[in-house]
Amino acid sequence: MKHRRSIDLVASHEEVATDRETLATLPQWYVLHARCPACQREARIDRRMLAYSYGKDISLARIGLRLKCNGCGNRTGNQLLLGRLPRD
Ligand SMILES: [Zn+2]
Repeated sequence: MKHRRSIDLVASHEEVATDRETLATLPQWYVLHARCPACQREARIDRRMLAYSYGKDISLARIGLRLKCNGCGNRTGNQLLLGRLPRD
């Protein structure tokens, strides 16, 4: 029986220095998610869309500050989460 592979999300500060890493330097097996503290909405963010919008040299820490919740429009306290894709 095959197990569904899940992505373990971690708060970005746990293993990645978000003030140093940028969209360009973050290894490609990381996926980005955002979580809204107001409505608990969590959404995956497309790295390419972020790079297109902000430029690939923006630090992850600054991305977190710019996030806006698609559910309730909240702009404060949104958390950037990182997930590692399974590597074969
Ligand atoms: Zn929200």
